[in-house]
Amino acid sequence: AYLDRIESVDGAIGAFLHVGRESALAQAREVDDKRAAGAELGPLAGVPIAHKDVFTTKDMPTTAASKILEGWQPPYDATVTERLRGAGLVILGKTNMDEFAMGSSTENSAYQVTRNPWDTDRIPGGSSGGSSAAVAAFEAPLATGTDTGGSIRQPAAVCGLVGGKPTYGGSSRYGMIAFASSLDTPGPFARNVLDAALLHEAFSGHDPRDSTSIDAAVPPVVDAARIGDVEGLRVGVVKELDSDGFQPGVRQRFRETVELLESLGAKVVEVSCPSFDAALSAYYLIAPSEASSNLARFDAMRYGLRVGDDGTRSAEEVMSLTRARGFGPEVKRRIMLGTYALSSGYYDAYYGSAQQVRTLIKRDFDAAFENVDVLVSPTTPTTAFPIGERAEDPMAMYLADLCTIPSNLAGNASLSVPCGLAPEDDLPVGFQIMAPPLADDRTYRVAAAVER
Ligand code: GLN
Repeated sequence: AYLDRIESVDGAIGAFLHVGRESALAQAREVDDKRAAGAELGPLAGVPIAHKDVFTTKDMPTTAASKILEGWQPPYDATVTERLRGAGLVILGKTNMDEFAMGSSTENSAYQVTRNPWDTDRIPGGSSGGSSAAVAAFEAPLATGTDTGGSIRQPAAVCGLVGGKPTYGGSSRYGMIAFASSLDTPGPFARNVLDAALLHEAFSGHDPRDSTSIDAAVPPVVDAARIGDVEGLRVGVVKELDSDGFQPGVRQRFRETVELLESLGAKVVEVSCPSFDAALSAYYLIAPSEASSNLARFDAMRYGLRVGDDGTRSAEEVMSLTRARGFGPEVKRRIMLGTYALSSGYYDAYYGSAQQVRTLIKRDFDAAFENVDVLVSPTTPTTAFPIGERAEDPMAMYLADLCTIPSNLAGNASLSVPCGLAPEDDLPVGFQIMAPPLADDRTYRVAAAVER
């Protein structure tokens, strides 16, 4: 049914870069056979899923929506892919994204535009916009994404979905094409809180193949999603993430949801996190710096595209031609920014200061979590904006990440849950819940309480 749905609507949505019809049917049959043979299967066995095209898949191409990886077929599965395959989930295909996960609208894909199913003239969010559009358009019940600065929570918010950024290190980055390694986190998209929790639990947990993986038990997110009780829970509203500049309907739905929590027995207080004002600036130095280093591996020798290798050019010339042709404008902008910020003479002023700001943000969170169990904010300052509106204005685009970035810088657990439609445009609004590292269960508990 999902494959048929993709066939009938994806021409108008553009969520998928690759659909694996035959392999999906074969996997589904395998699960059926196991079930018929009386095997014990997990709760998601046989459920279809779409993977962001940043996760390696040994039976499907993986491009990170970049021309530099066009046609690349990975020889191995990412840990997330492998674990979900092992849990019996059926892979429908790979979803569109901003090239190398750089962007907030999926307009930076080298291949195609993805449209928001709520209004096809608007963006589905980014960078995991193919995944959010696929789930919102009922082309998949579940999808994976990656969140470096909001790339799961923001698309989830603007597509009316539940989307989570698990604790950094709580789920494995192995086989996830790297953007900014100290921030990148895989996470779930689903249409309700319990589904998101089931998916979260199915791929999370320690992985010796990821050196930053935490060796601790997976927080009990499924139980938390089933409980959904907030009686006595201390909830902090972050003053700095609820600004006058936000869209009025977004603020209105956010406030109503805070009131709902209060009516359910939560204790709500206002909290100030003064360093959050500098989070966006710090992020847009740290993320490009790490990206400039990570993307050095695309050297025309090891993967994908190779331009001008006709025996007359040096390796450097081939590398340069390949990177010029293979990377899109936003990726080049990040590589230049990052290379500059890391260069000798500028390192302390830019990268060094940004790392200090990162510590201040972490301290703001630590201080806040001494008094509250979770922090909340709108997920995004506005609802989905029109395709093209911010494409030529990177600063306006970067503002979409205002509320989501602090959690990445601190490595926290964070989740976005739908909280109604903004009255002025009838588009979905997201409610963000932030908790300390390894307290992911709290975000699901609150989300389940406010879900409607
Ligand atoms: N929009 C942010 C960026 O462009 C975040 C991306 C992400 O989380 N992958 O960097």
